[in-house]
Amino acid sequence: MNVRFIADSMLGKLARWLRLIGFDTLYYPSIADEDLVKKAHNEGRIILTKDSELVRRNKEEDIIYLASSDPYEQLKIVMKTLKLNPWERLFSRCVYCNKPVQKVKSLSEIKQKVPSYAYQNHFSFYRCPECGRIYWEGSHHSKIRERIKALLE
Ligand SMILES: [Zn+2]
Repeated sequence: MNVRFIADSMLGKLARWLRLIGFDTLYYPSIADEDLVKKAHNEGRIILTKDSELVRRNKEEDIIYLASSDPYEQLKIVMKTLKLNPWERLFSRCVYCNKPVQKVKSLSEIKQKVPSYAYQNHFSFYRCPECGRIYWEGSHHSKIRERIKALLE
């Protein structure tokens, strides 16, 4: 299922979480409602919004209204509404750029860019083609997994 989103400017944390679980999510800290709706419409994206007025004015669009201000609650609602599987593509996307990360083929390329404990203990590294950030499986990942598991209960 290739679900894509655009989040309104009040949903920055939710946008990051959706990227974390691998879903293409556009987010602009400042965007006019009409531009947001136009972009969603043109690119086949589901609008995520806290703005009930925006929902009311765009009944023909795909919109999920999120009343809660808690990003975890918001994530839970989005996952449940669309029956998203958060494990399938977990950590496959840059949280900052929304670009799919790419597996680093040669470890020597990144040796200087990651802490030595990470280099010594982990085998798979991924790089964002946009910002160059390196991602790897670490202790922060197990915390994120636990958080998602808790949300699904
Ligand atoms: Zn990036």
